Amino acid sequence: MPLPARTRTAVHAARLARPAVRRKRPTVLTWGLGADSTAEILMFLNDPVAHGLEPDMSDLVIVHAVTGDEFSDSLSFADRLVLPLLRAWRVRLVQVCRGGPRDADGVLVLDDSRAPRRIHAAGPWRLSDELRTAGTVPMLASGQRRCSIRFKGWVLDTWAAHEFGTETFRRVIGYHADETGRALKDSAIQDELNTAAGRIICEPDYPLIRAGMARAAVERYVLDNLGEMILKSHCTMCPFTGVCSSRDLYEERLRAHPAEAARVLRMEYISLALNERMSLYGPSGSLHQRLAEDGRNRPVLDAFQADLEQTPYAVYEVRRITGLGRTKDCRRWHGKDCTEPKWWCTQQRKPRCRRVHVIVDQDGAPVDAEPHCLGDDKRCRGAQQKGPTWRSVRTVYEAPRERAEGFVTRFAERYPERARLVAGETSGIRRAHYLPESEGLPHAEAFIVAAPAGVADKQRPGFEERWTEHTGARPVFRPLRDLPKPAPRRRSAGGPAPLHRAKAAGNVALTA
Ligand code: SF4
Ligand SMILES: [Zn+2]
Ligand SMILES: [Zn+2]
Repeated sequence: MPLPARTRTAVHAARLARPAVRRKRPTVLTWGLGADSTAEILMFLNDPVAHGLEPDMSDLVIVHAVTGDEFSDSLSFADRLVLPLLRAWRVRLVQVCRGGPRDADGVLVLDDSRAPRRIHAAGPWRLSDELRTAGTVPMLASGQRRCSIRFKGWVLDTWAAHEFGTETFRRVIGYHADETGRALKDSAIQDELNTAAGRIICEPDYPLIRAGMARAAVERYVLDNLGEMILKSHCTMCPFTGVCSSRDLYEERLRAHPAEAARVLRMEYISLALNERMSLYGPSGSLHQRLAEDGRNRPVLDAFQADLEQTPYAVYEVRRITGLGRTKDCRRWHGKDCTEPKWWCTQQRKPRCRRVHVIVDQDGAPVDAEPHCLGDDKRCRGAQQKGPTWRSVRTVYEAPRERAEGFVTRFAERYPERARLVAGETSGIRRAHYLPESEGLPHAEAFIVAAPAGVADKQRPGFEERWTEHTGARPVFRPLRDLPKPAPRRRSAGGPAPLHRAKAAGNVALTA
């Protein structure tokens, strides 16, 4: 039965008539617009008291982190079917987003209302802005989704720190009954955070797990209550759709939104141009390849090609240098600073070395001690340990596509003994490499490549010195612009990043 949208019903009146209970800790429900958190909203609306809320839900705050890249139909679903309920029950909805690329830009409250009219599509700094200017795609860092941490987790935590200060709140999360592993992990992380803070910041709560509702039951519940099947909620360029949505559903959605699909493909194209390994799915292949396997995706690929023809292009000079890193053994036995490196500080010990060259006590039992192997035997020495890669990207030419690509080809043709034109294995994008190929570490590569404009010039301080030290070479091309000056460090007054509120003119939030 769909919930009544516009009027307070007798049921609601009865709830309000129940005796007031002592003020409980506030409840924060993080709404990602997907089935799980939407089902939780509906469960709360259907029976707030059973879920530990005040009958009028005055102690409930629904918070939505705006990444700026949701599919438009997810926004429309929420606008049409959920917001009328929130308005009818006067539930507070807060919409927050990043204020800019730096944490110092703070968090922007786009809307904070008990009568929300729409879900904001974007704030002043979208995830896609960040990825486009960095010339990359969403990726994992130390096993975590960096994009989600920056555009959702950090935004929500910062808002909560301002909203609640030291007051404890209940944090409701939409893990369903098949996600108990994720919930346990989340709980453990929160315990650690609470311990580190010396107080209970918040207590996580998982109503769907408590109700024993798995994904199918959740979707059915939303359908029963809202009368429409809910769509998966994730950014248009999310490569983790294996979790959020199946490949078939994702491709079907891209077909329904060819313009959005073309933007995702363009983002992947730029990322691949700068690094052949950086497709949307990394080693599992590119989105473009996947779409090309199904003839039904032809219009999407055509829209993408048309987009490439029209978009302004740039020629980027990309230089990358990867040095030697420290092995786990080195970190373990030589601590933070390795002052007297052994061969195994930068090179892996092979399993044979660990087996044969082991220190034992008088009873022959292995002793946990610093490796003593001198590495004279080649069978002991494994692969070199890769260190971090430093990348410099500089724009050296800007023109329409044909001229920009011609620039790259002409360079390779004019200096055949120095440059070689190589087409990427995954992307087919042609790059003119101008450093001799080398093996082992440190490893340096340099090329120019044509791709849609928009990537910001970027390299870390000290890059030129390191580059010259390793290659003896200078950049071949003159960059069009100086590197942007690093923004002055704002002195932190301690505490969370600032919270700003968007000014509104009528129904429009002014975000910049
Ligand atoms: S939906 Fe995907 S791309 Fe968007 S923030 Fe989450 S993990 Fe990143
Ligand atoms: Zn060492
Ligand atoms: Zn050895």
